[in-house]
Amino acid sequence: MKLRLKIISIFLVSIAISVIVFFYTTSYLVEHVAWKGINFEMMDKAVAEAQTKISLLSKIEENKIQIIGEEVAEKYQGMIIEAISKDESWYLTTAKTQQIKTVHEMLNHLSEHNKYQQKQWSVAKEVTTQNGESMYVLVIVPQEHFRLLYWHINGDQGLKVTRTIVSAGFMITLTVSTFCAFIFSRSMLKRFNHLYHGIAQFGLGNTKVTVDDKKKDEIGELVHTFNQMAYKINEQVEVQKEQENKRRELVSNISHDLRTPLSSIVGYTESLRNGIYDDEAEQNQYLEIIYKKALYTEKLLGELLDFSRLECGALTLYKEKVDLAELTRAVLIEYLPSMEERQIELGVDIEEGIALVEIDKAQISRVIRNLLDNAIKYGSQGKIIRVSIKRYSNRVELWVMDKGQGIPKDALEHIFERFYRVDKSRNTKEGGMGLGLAIVDEIIKKHKGTISVASETGDGTTITVVIPIEKS
Ligand code: ADP
Repeated sequence: MKLRLKIISIFLVSIAISVIVFFYTTSYLVEHVAWKGINFEMMDKAVAEAQTKISLLSKIEENKIQIIGEEVAEKYQGMIIEAISKDESWYLTTAKTQQIKTVHEMLNHLSEHNKYQQKQWSVAKEVTTQNGESMYVLVIVPQEHFRLLYWHINGDQGLKVTRTIVSAGFMITLTVSTFCAFIFSRSMLKRFNHLYHGIAQFGLGNTKVTVDDKKKDEIGELVHTFNQMAYKINEQVEVQKEQENKRRELVSNISHDLRTPLSSIVGYTESLRNGIYDDEAEQNQYLEIIYKKALYTEKLLGELLDFSRLECGALTLYKEKVDLAELTRAVLIEYLPSMEERQIELGVDIEEGIALVEIDKAQISRVIRNLLDNAIKYGSQGKIIRVSIKRYSNRVELWVMDKGQGIPKDALEHIFERFYRVDKSRNTKEGGMGLGLAIVDEIIKKHKGTISVASETGDGTTITVVIPIEKS
């Protein structure tokens, strides 16, 4: 649920709860506190009942009147029933002590009724028995039993009570809403704290941090965005670390790769300079070695230079319409002597006709050379290298296959990466810097083509290059 919707629902729920609580507390207070007790109507009823019963007596008999009083007092709890003879010769009460003893006192008391400060309220009636004797019967109610909210005699107090009830209701409502707000804000604060903690950790350099909050509201979305951001930055940091490692590895590899042939060159040159050779044949052999090592060093440096040019985007293609079949044949001719020397059989499977593609001739020649170099370097033991070219309406495919050592499965996905070599030892005398296929890949990508590899360990390798035919 969205946060705004949540706040509105919580607001409405807290209002509903408050209204219900307010309603129940006020009605409880009214019913059990303010409305409880005796009012004048009840007192009138009681006095009328006593009056009726006494009026049925044949004459005034104090003990019977006392009984009637007790009965009425019993029925109307909280009331005191009293009687005074007209001549004030006797009086009776259901209380412990007589409250009103004289007619004068009774009249005074009745006249005080509209004043709230009274300690007790009373109503009185004159009663005449069957024989015509008269007396007064009184119903007295002490303050604690009188109804608190009795507006027409008790306005001030009623207002006070109402105020108290309303304030109590408000207090309860306020407490309920505060409680709801507290519960809601507590969960929100907890989530914000969580996020804050995550951000703080992130700030301290822990880029792997993720904050757990699966809720779908705005805070949840904020957390999700933070997690995504942290994830991306972490990824970048990892890539940077990896690049840093690779750079370090590169420096050490280049140094190693260049040092080996250079040491030989230095060693053999030293021998020649100091005349440490037996005859002219040996001298020529040393010169040959120096020449080969120098060529190898030049090749490595060339690769490195090409790669750095490619990497910084400095390579510009000079495209022209070229027959890839013809170009491949021309390159293959260069390789015939070295294949022959290694007793490698070359199979050429190039379809008749021309395979015209828009390419940079020099760069694609380099691709073919690189693939052939690899096929010879790593596949010569299979003694067969096959080169095929297939034409399709929208592309031309160049296949270079060998039956050599093959590439292990786990290395397949890496061979186009820069500086990747299956043989990590870098001691292979034929091995390069692991840049050949990375350069090939870059060149093919620049031609909007693709390159792929299929290989089985011990069963050779096939590299397929696809170059699209651009419709003009
Ligand atoms: P390098 O300059 O070391 O030859 P490449 O980028 O040309 O580097 O090739 C990367 C790695 O892929 C090589 O080190 C080699 O282990 C493997 N590789 C490439 N071509 C072949 C192949 N035809 N047969 C077996 N392994 C190959």
